[in-house]
This record gives sequence, structure tokens and C-alpha cells, in this order.
Amino acid sequence: MINIQLSDRQEKIIEIVKEKEPVTSEEIAKRLKLTRATLRPDLAILTMAGILDARPKVGYFYSGKNMFNVIYDQINDIKVSKVKSVPVIVNEETTVYDAIVTMFLEDVGTIFVVSDGLLSGVISRKDFLKSAIGGIDINKVPVGIIMTRMPNIVMASPEESILDAAVKIMDHEVDSLPIVEEVDNGKEVGYKVIGRISKTNITRIFVDLGKE
Ligand code: ADP
Repeated sequence: MINIQLSDRQEKIIEIVKEKEPVTSEEIAKRLKLTRATLRPDLAILTMAGILDARPKVGYFYSGKNMFNVIYDQINDIKVSKVKSVPVIVNEETTVYDAIVTMFLEDVGTIFVVSDGLLSGVISRKDFLKSAIGGIDINKVPVGIIMTRMPNIVMASPEESILDAAVKIMDHEVDSLPIVEEVDNGKEVGYKVIGRISKTNITRIFVDLGKE
């Protein structure tokens, strides 16, 4: 469990606001036997975090949110399409050898495989290692033989939140998800790969939120 700590003073401010809302900064300062100037940074933090609402000439209200709700709201507001990377894609006929070279050149851990332009599979580092141990001829065997195949691919839509994508990544124990758009050709539904979201993208958001 992550432990996000507010200071003792910030906790006390929240308690006072919960009890007395609307309450002015003078009243809070008086209750805590501090000056308004001393309290200003704490009130600024609590207001910016969305835990307190400040209304001019009225005072502070409690928003009903705690630190976890605030973080949840922030993450839940970010859509997958905002943080996606460029997908690395090969055809099912590509040889395992060529796909390994592509993985090195493009510096990714997962390659998506398409057939007639639609997603048909995923290959990861471990799939290549397995095929090497299996002793196949990597110059002859196509990736279609070793990849994880549809319908067993876990995907993300551009509109879903990065929180949902992160949950899928954790639940299915994979490194990345193809971001897809549904294509209906009248006969069947397929998926066009328009991006990639990986553990790295999610770590980057985490770092950016921390810096903010
Ligand atoms: P690594 O091989 O580096 O551990 P993963 O953990 O992502 O990478 O892959 C583990 C297995 O899951 C591999 O067999 C791979 O083909 C498969 N896999 C990877 N991504 C997905 C996905 N989005 N949906 C379904 N299977 C996947």
C-alpha cells in the first residue's frame, strides 16, 4: 500500500474545516494558535490538491476528498491516447530472425503482428527466448508460429483512462498493450493498431505527476 502523508498540521486543518465549514483562515489560525502567514503554505497545498475549496470572502470548505481520491481523479482523467507511443509492427510472415533484429533496432520489448493490416498477435522478448531454446530455425520460421495470437491479446482503446490500462497490464502480467481502433468490414470485426502503451509510459506519467 502506498503511504501518502499529509503533515500533522495539514491533518489538523482538515479536521477544523470539516467541523466548522465555512471557516476563514483567521479562525483556523486562531484555533491552531498560529499566524495566518504560517498557515498560508499549508492552505495553498490543501487547496491545490483539491482537498479544500476556498471561496473568497466566505472561507474554506472540505471537498470530501482525501489524498487518494485526488490522485485517483488525476490519473483517471488522463486518456491512453495522450500518452501513447509509436507501435512497432511486423507482418505474420516476417521471420523470427528479422523480428529480433527489428526489436533491437527499434529498442522495444514488444512487437505487434498484423495480418491484412489488422492485429493478429504479440511477440515479446520471452517468446523469442522460448523459440531459441526450442531450437527452431529462426531464419525460416515466421513470427506467426511463436506469437501470442488473437483473441488472447489484451488491448486498450484510445479513450480509456491510463488507470484502466495500468490495471490490465498488472492483471495480465504483460509489459505493454496495443492501442487499437475497431474496424468492421461488414463480415467481421478486427482491430487496427494505432499505438502502444507500456509500463514505461506509465512510469513516465508517475514521474511527471511527481514533478508537478
Ligand atoms: P517479456 O517477454 O519481456 O516478459 P511480457 O511479460 O509482456 O514480456 O510477455 C509475456 C507473454 O505475454 C509473452 O508470451 C507475450 O507474447 C504475451 N503478451 C505480451 N503482451 C501481451 C498482450 N498485450 N496481450 C496478450 N499477451 C501478451
